[in-house]
Amino acid sequence: MRILTVVGNRPQFIKAAAVSGLLRERHEEILVHTGQHYDDSLSRVFFTELGLARPEKELGIGGGSNTAQTARMLAALEPLVGELAPDAALVYGDTNSTLAGALAAAQARVPVIHIEAGMRSFDRTMPEELNRVLSDHVSDLLLCPSQSAAEHLRAESIAGRIEVVGDVMVDVALRSLPLARANAEAPAAYGLQGGSYLLLTAHRAGNVDDPARLRALVELVRALPAPVLFAVHPRTGARLADAGLLGELESVDGLVLTGPLGYIEFSALVCQARAVITDSGGVQKEAYLAGVPFVTLRANTEWTETVQAGWNTLVDLDADAALAALGRRPPAERPALYGDGHAAERCVQAIGAL
Ligand code: UDP
Repeated sequence: MRILTVVGNRPQFIKAAAVSGLLRERHEEILVHTGQHYDDSLSRVFFTELGLARPEKELGIGGGSNTAQTARMLAALEPLVGELAPDAALVYGDTNSTLAGALAAAQARVPVIHIEAGMRSFDRTMPEELNRVLSDHVSDLLLCPSQSAAEHLRAESIAGRIEVVGDVMVDVALRSLPLARANAEAPAAYGLQGGSYLLLTAHRAGNVDDPARLRALVELVRALPAPVLFAVHPRTGARLADAGLLGELESVDGLVLTGPLGYIEFSALVCQARAVITDSGGVQKEAYLAGVPFVTLRANTEWTETVQAGWNTLVDLDADAALAALGRRPPAERPALYGDGHAAERCVQAIGAL
């Protein structure tokens, strides 16, 4: 089969790195990078570090509102789908690139494969939730990380074929764990010792685009016990700079600010943190896999099993709730969630049966 894969942002490069190599053993893959993340620190580093093939096509479409960006992607993808005449299109996750890839293919009657299907926060104010729901409804093969994701799809009477395969991001994370745990240089590079620091990321539109929420985030960061390493996403950095808040953070004792990091360095920092504080979906899972307790800066999560297991506490931007959660000991049990590290193999098998 000829498969047109559409990716565009950081977590999608990681997911594609798990699947693409295996897919190419049996099929022809044409990788299209929409350009949603174009910054080297969010894009190129993942191709290099994770061995993802160079994209065959780069659309160079970044910036703008979600609607305008998705519209530009659709306009660029329509002729490409026509020209390449793929047998199927493959999309990952919940971004504008996911929705544009899925819709452009579905309109051209090309079967759509969605990896990480069925995730729901049930919060339609999140752009990601709209992208997930809409992509799922035009997909023909829905590959889910968990049983609960498959149940969401059945509850929505999805027409496509649903399979639970596990999470492809877990494949990558489990493979990198041994080296990440042993990499003492990663925390040392920031003057930190393993087991002693908090690792922080935040970039969701709901947390950084609204000035009042951004202010609350800054207050929360200031309240955290040192040392804290904050890997600042470019979107967050830009919002903090616009609001004049970067200087305030720079003067906080024991807070180390850095830009977005490569996967290998970041994984090592997750594994060796005392706790992780994040609003990222991928980072929630990775902290869980590493056995590091974590606090999620959201009122809801798609990865509800991690909350039920007692390792994840949803605090939104409530600093007191975050501090209370950080003071609790993690549970003794950590059940295996989201697969066994072989999700990509199951994806490729399911795709072969399309
Ligand atoms: N990540 C990274 N460097 C960083 C922060 C995150 O490599 O500085 C990785 C992280 O390990 C995870 C992925 O990026 O695999 C998560 O991406 P992101 O938080 O952008 O998106 P989300 O998962 O929330 O959709």
